[in-house]
Amino acid sequence: MFGGKYRPSTFLTLTLDTYGRVDKHGAALDPDSYDYRRAARDAIHFPKLLDRFWQNTRRCVGWDVQYFGTVEPQKRGAPHFHAAIRGTIPRSELRAITAATYHQVWWPAHDELVYSGDRLPRWDNHHRAFVDPQTREPLPTWDEATDPDALTAPAHTVVFGPQVHVKGILGGTEEAGRHIGYLTKYLTKSIGQAAGLDDTATARQREHARRLAAELAITPCSPRCPIWLLYGIEPKGARPGTTPGHCKGKAHKPEHLGIAGRRVLVSRKWSNKSLSDHRAERTAFVRQLLDRAGVQPAYAVDDGPFEWETTKPGDTDVPPRTVLLLHAINQRSRWRADYDAAVLATTDAAPDDRSATEGAAA
Ligand SMILES: [Zn+2]
Repeated sequence: MFGGKYRPSTFLTLTLDTYGRVDKHGAALDPDSYDYRRAARDAIHFPKLLDRFWQNTRRCVGWDVQYFGTVEPQKRGAPHFHAAIRGTIPRSELRAITAATYHQVWWPAHDELVYSGDRLPRWDNHHRAFVDPQTREPLPTWDEATDPDALTAPAHTVVFGPQVHVKGILGGTEEAGRHIGYLTKYLTKSIGQAAGLDDTATARQREHARRLAAELAITPCSPRCPIWLLYGIEPKGARPGTTPGHCKGKAHKPEHLGIAGRRVLVSRKWSNKSLSDHRAERTAFVRQLLDRAGVQPAYAVDDGPFEWETTKPGDTDVPPRTVLLLHAINQRSRWRADYDAAVLATTDAAPDDRSATEGAAA
């Protein structure tokens, strides 16, 4: 246990790779050689890369790492990620995990536009599918195009850039406050504003933003994205009203810079206590009370180990629902009776002890 308010934490910033040289405003010095395609795809798949990063981190350090983080755009328009991690992880370890983390996108290849301008796939009522405008042949569906036999290589692989910023900090200090400030600084601004795209933007910045937006407009954002039709693939859930190339997804909107997902990412157990912490505390308290009162439970308390599994329809060893419910009610009322008996037997117990158990055995 960490005593007091000085709790060690780690502040981490993860960045995507470089796509070409930029000026001090983050605009490409040479837009023709800047890799807008990779920038657009990396931005769209960034959340998946972060998921993979936390998975790898937990596996590597061996504990359930808790974090609070925000996704923010850099001036160049690429997302980066700031996070506060509870506890300390050595810098070298975080660097190694970052370098080893990647996410492969097993989508059909989408490097060459197959349809554009007036030549677009159209819905065919006879086939109930999108067809080629000339041959009237149905396009491959998403499932056909992603069949493991058909897909031999990932369409894209996302990796982090070499820059990893790691800082160990004691919680409750002035320095910690400053770093928490970084985490939340831009949340009230739109992504475009946070990237510096306002009235003061230079001509080069505007051109940079235009190029990135143009690439995002032809980069599919999900298996359901109607942009797939431009690459000759019928997206999941295509309907007669689907317009080839027109996706309402946030990722394609110029002001979102490909950042469509949540901007605040928090691990499930970030708050100081998890539900199971509370549950374990309550159980421990009730057991202490029963012990002190000398109440012997009339039933065996089996602490396991157990292996839990979800029941499936057709399992033969699952008792009927009514039996399970009656059993649970019976067990609860026996627990309640034991608990009440213990409270009676220990009326000299400190009152604050007892108030802490309100509802504990309910
Ligand atoms: Zn889309």
